[in-house]
Amino acid sequence: MNKDILCKECDTRLEHLESTGLISSKQRTLMQHPDRVVSTHLVITRDSGELESIPAFRIQDSLARGPGKGGIRFHPDVTAEEVSSLAFVMSLKTALLDVPFGGAKGGAQFNPRDYSKQEIEKIARTYVRSFADVLGPQKDVPAPDVNTTPQIMNWMRDEFETITGQEAPAFITGKSVEEGGSEGRVEATGMGAFMVLQEKFSNKEKSELSVAVQGFGNAGSVLAGLLQDGGYRVVAVSDSKGAIYKEEGLDIEAVTIFKKEGNRISDYTQEGVQHISNEELLELDVDILAPAALGDVITKDNAHNVHSRTIVEVANGPISSDADEVLHKKGIEVIPDLLANAGGVTVSYFEWHQNIYGESWSQEQVFETLQEKMKLAYKQTKDLAQEKNTSLRDAAYTIAIDRITNAQ
Ligand code: NAD
Repeated sequence: MNKDILCKECDTRLEHLESTGLISSKQRTLMQHPDRVVSTHLVITRDSGELESIPAFRIQDSLARGPGKGGIRFHPDVTAEEVSSLAFVMSLKTALLDVPFGGAKGGAQFNPRDYSKQEIEKIARTYVRSFADVLGPQKDVPAPDVNTTPQIMNWMRDEFETITGQEAPAFITGKSVEEGGSEGRVEATGMGAFMVLQEKFSNKEKSELSVAVQGFGNAGSVLAGLLQDGGYRVVAVSDSKGAIYKEEGLDIEAVTIFKKEGNRISDYTQEGVQHISNEELLELDVDILAPAALGDVITKDNAHNVHSRTIVEVANGPISSDADEVLHKKGIEVIPDLLANAGGVTVSYFEWHQNIYGESWSQEQVFETLQEKMKLAYKQTKDLAQEKNTSLRDAAYTIAIDRITNAQ
């Protein structure tokens, strides 16, 4: 292996695809390194008057299919390797959904909890000034990620417009609708996952399908609500403090209201509702398990205890690679994150498109267009998996890598 590879985990995946004959060694080499790695230190004056420098990165994994696309993360654990891995996944997602973007990601290594609002604004503006040369609507389009809010997006856009002297709503996505964001972006990730499940189970009576959803945030709560409205039996949901279970199906609307009122899921009570742990939720005997919280929640240590028939990866990387094999042997079908949570980036593309062309789509138009894209990506992935007798994950990677390397 090439020693200076930044994202080892990405190369492990590429190595697997090459060894199974799904990609060529030339494709692996083309995908091994990001197109551009920019790193710097953001120097800011703290409220105390002291100077501080914060490590920061923007990594453009691939620009072959269009401008880079990917969020900016503010977190103490941000490293170049992590940002590179996230940028790699963005390249694959945009390629699989066939939106005309490449993949990128950014990050600044600090804990926003320890900083005042003014300090965070300084960091956001300094980030844009430091990376302005490589960012822009036709170069690389950022978005929110962990700890970066719509308010931070507004500061960043303002800074970019000040530097360039031009209005540039398409500089950044994930804006509020009033600031040029798209209808439907908030629901897009849960909606995209729901659309894929609807395709997969198009011939099934939905009331016969039981579902457990881990994580009741933006993505998980939207998915749970859509599934209930679609007739599925959502038997378990959770947040970080614990899970609830009811065999006949929970009242998701009531749970959503309870959660919005600032309560914890584990404090929800209703007749027939049992309290279980997050670990127990993952091991329930259900038709569909939707991990929608964190990465690496299913590992080789608990994969043997997973009893669902299908897993839909709403979170990024909820299944570790060693667990993947165990699940495959057990005959559990995994709908990979690359496909299952790509609704978010797809609607971000719609936002950029509307900003560039001065359009304003209705929510109906957003979801109709999203559905076409999700349906097609699912069909292409499923067909290739059948043709090559491989997993949906390997098929999704193969399609994406073919598209990226063909464009290089
Ligand atoms: P969020 O912060 O809105 O919600 C996260 C949820 O997970 C919360 O309910 C939280 O209580 C729960 N949680 C946290 N720790 C947990 C634990 N240890 N066990 C169980 N639950 C726990 O986040 P989100 O936007 O819904 O994103 C969820 C996942 O989906 C993340 O992995 C994210 O990367 C991925 N994702 C989100 C989007 C998007 O557009 N929101 C797009 C692509 C991928």
